[in-house]
Amino acid sequence: MEGTMKLNEFNNAFQTEQQCLAYIANLKENKCIRCSSFNLNTSDLKRIRCLKCNQTFSILTGTIFSRSQTSLRSWFYLIFR
Ligand SMILES: [Zn+2]
Repeated sequence: MEGTMKLNEFNNAFQTEQQCLAYIANLKENKCIRCSSFNLNTSDLKRIRCLKCNQTFSILTGTIFSRSQTSLRSWFYLIFR
């Protein structure tokens, strides 16, 4: 992330919670929280499934967002403005 993002750029990039989730997914190393396998089913980022050990977890596990009741868009707005 470089420089400051203009508000309209922000709105275009993060229109939905899903886009926010996808952004986090890009930042994170996507591996299983239990066995560290990279062999994951990520079709649902809030319910990623490890194809090796069958563990399910959210892309938000281990981030500051995981226990937040605030929407991701609100968080992102605070971070990027
Ligand atoms: Zn696993």
